[in-house]
Amino acid sequence: MSALDAVVIGSGPNGLAAAVTLARAGLSVEVFEQADTPGGGARTGELTEPGFLHDLCSAVHPMAVASPFFREFRLADRIDLVTPPISYGHPLDRGAAALAYRDIERTVDDLGADGSAWRSLFAPLVRDRDAVAELSGTALPRGVQHPIALMRLGFRALEQGSVLWNARWREDAAPALLSGVMAHAVQPMPTLGSAAAGLALAMHGHAAGWPIPIGGSRSIIGALIDDLEAHGGRIRTGVTVADIRDLPASRVVLFDTNARDMVRIAGERMPDSYAAKIDRFRFGNGASTHHFALSEPVPWTDSRLLEAGTLHIGGSRGEVAYGEREVAAGRLPRSPYVLAAQPTLFDPSRAPRGKHVLWTYTHVPAGSTVDRTEDVIRQIERFAPGFRDTIVASTSRTTRQLEAYNPNYVGGDIAAGEGSFTRLVARPTLSVTPWRTAAKGVYLASSSAAPGPGVHGMAGWNAAVTALRDEFGVRTPPSLAPSGPRTATKGM
Ligand SMILES: Cc1cc2nc3c(=O)[nH]c(=O)nc-3n(C[C@H](O)[C@H](O)[C@H](O)COP(=O)(O)OP(=O)(O)OC[C@H]3O[C@@H](n4cnc5c(N)ncnc54)[C@H](O)[C@@H]3O)c2cc1C
Repeated sequence: MSALDAVVIGSGPNGLAAAVTLARAGLSVEVFEQADTPGGGARTGELTEPGFLHDLCSAVHPMAVASPFFREFRLADRIDLVTPPISYGHPLDRGAAALAYRDIERTVDDLGADGSAWRSLFAPLVRDRDAVAELSGTALPRGVQHPIALMRLGFRALEQGSVLWNARWREDAAPALLSGVMAHAVQPMPTLGSAAAGLALAMHGHAAGWPIPIGGSRSIIGALIDDLEAHGGRIRTGVTVADIRDLPASRVVLFDTNARDMVRIAGERMPDSYAAKIDRFRFGNGASTHHFALSEPVPWTDSRLLEAGTLHIGGSRGEVAYGEREVAAGRLPRSPYVLAAQPTLFDPSRAPRGKHVLWTYTHVPAGSTVDRTEDVIRQIERFAPGFRDTIVASTSRTTRQLEAYNPNYVGGDIAAGEGSFTRLVARPTLSVTPWRTAAKGVYLASSSAAPGPGVHGMAGWNAAVTALRDEFGVRTPPSLAPSGPRTATKGM
């Protein structure tokens, strides 16, 4: 008999989601993590000054309440989340910002002439929120299980991902607001990949909102670790796995690494034909992160932005699209698109009394080593004159530093794989179970696999459920509820 049932390489949200699921099914599970602290893209720490707690990677968590995994895990019952009244705001040059309130009707009213076009784009998706969440939380070839949601999202993605993307809008604010969300995909715009990702994310902004965990993203990791340990799982930190043969014997190995590293680490166990497919797996462009400790909130020209958890800073739709095209062409945009979050407006526990943190990142070509701090500050100053004077301290990471921090982010690609539509459909390969590899007992559980990036745990959950079925004969996934009864037992 094996010493262990399962080994998980990597303790990001997906790795831990996989480990929790396996442990809940009664398996013995050990997680190996190269960093000294678990959490992958969901760590929080004092990066600038004592008492200022910064989210090192992810900061805002629409999926913490919407993802089928976290709903099953009942994350919202285990940690405190705060949902800002404005999911995301988009400052504009004329002074008034475009605002996506959680309340769709308030957004519609605020958008004036484009309000009803916004409603017709999003209201049907919001009504179908659970199906859209399930559709965007699995492998797209499985989308046929949700034909109505697939059709609704698909038609809208075809419109916003094509030359038709301005046809419904009469003014500048609404298209800028949507472009800010579409740009999360780090893709040129308009494209299907950016439109599909942007529409799903924007829909969540009007459904359960874009919440922020009290205490930072590490609270999510804390909840997962507590559950894993309560069910007998263990985590070993400070262990980089370079070769699968170095691991203790186990029946299954689940990789929370990027797809390429999985093939390298699996070595001879991975059939050549599958390795050749993964060789065609491409990484996308990168990000550089910029964290600020502030003496006061950002002095936005439009003070309503102080009610927004997230901001997309980069001006009009045309300007944001131009910047993303520049990145896609391997150039640094002069006017960068900056993604920002202001958590201390909603969670004062993360900074000394009256002080604040600002989380930002900006898109750059893969592998860029340019420090963009000054460009980020200049872009924020454009919409918040005096911002520079509020900065107490700052720190940044280039793409190469991000990759050194977490090997999944090759060239600074924070999604561990490009965000093109093709790569969203075939992630990492075209399959209804893309978490299963061609090597027996080896599964891909990271955001290199469907459904892609985000703190949702869905790749880990799907990989674990597939492994349970394939290798342990467990057909009913275990309950993940805090004190719920276990519905599955270890087979064989
Ligand atoms: C700057 C930035 C901002 C982001 N913002 C958001 C956001 O606001 N909201 C959101 O939902 N998502 C956001 N994301 C994306 C999100 O963080 C990731 O999609 C998510 O963390 C992916 O989870 P994962 O478990 O697949 O991988 P990761 O979180 O990357 O975890 C992988 C883990 O595996 C470990 N590992 C890798 N290789 C090895 C090895 N060989 N041996 C041992 N350990 C190994 C790594 O150290 C890491 O801990 C952001 C990401 C970044 C970088």
